[in-house]
Amino acid sequence: MSAAPVDKSKSYFPLAGSASDGWSTEDEATATCFCGAVQLKFPTQGPALFETFLCHCADCRKITASMFASNFSILDTHLTHVRGRENLTAFGQAKTTASKNTMTNYFCSTCGTLMYRVSSGFPGMSILRIGTVDDFHLHETKLKPKREQFVENRVVWLHCLDGVKQFEGTGTP
Ligand SMILES: [Zn+2]
Ligand SMILES: [Zn+2]
Repeated sequence: MSAAPVDKSKSYFPLAGSASDGWSTEDEATATCFCGAVQLKFPTQGPALFETFLCHCADCRKITASMFASNFSILDTHLTHVRGRENLTAFGQAKTTASKNTMTNYFCSTCGTLMYRVSSGFPGMSILRIGTVDDFHLHETKLKPKREQFVENRVVWLHCLDGVKQFEGTGTP
């Protein structure tokens, strides 16, 4: 038995994790952890949405337990903790980041979802995860990665994204 195909051309909120109160509007949306304890609100357009990108660095592979991280950066002035901030655990280190900045990771203490990372080299900005955004239509549209970085670390069986800028390292001198 197969489910009806999803219409990805408009907002849709698949059954994913325990929360079912995610939402999106024209210019804002929520990101929620797998168990639902932690929910963030952020802008989906405008200058506070700084960047959308894939990262293939060794740290991102390890910390996501996957092959790459799908990220977007939000200015902290525009990031709201709707609930569960006290349920986040922070873990950071500077040993393995290419920049030698301390990268601090904020996880849900209950379910382990990595909600965002903060680099000591970029104060005032949080790097959220596209996969935590409740409206999956945004994964296809406004949050679609615009760049790929550390492509020299990409697994060889994975191809680059069509039409997306490719960078070795972070691409910044
Ligand atoms: Zn959780
Ligand atoms: Zn990375």
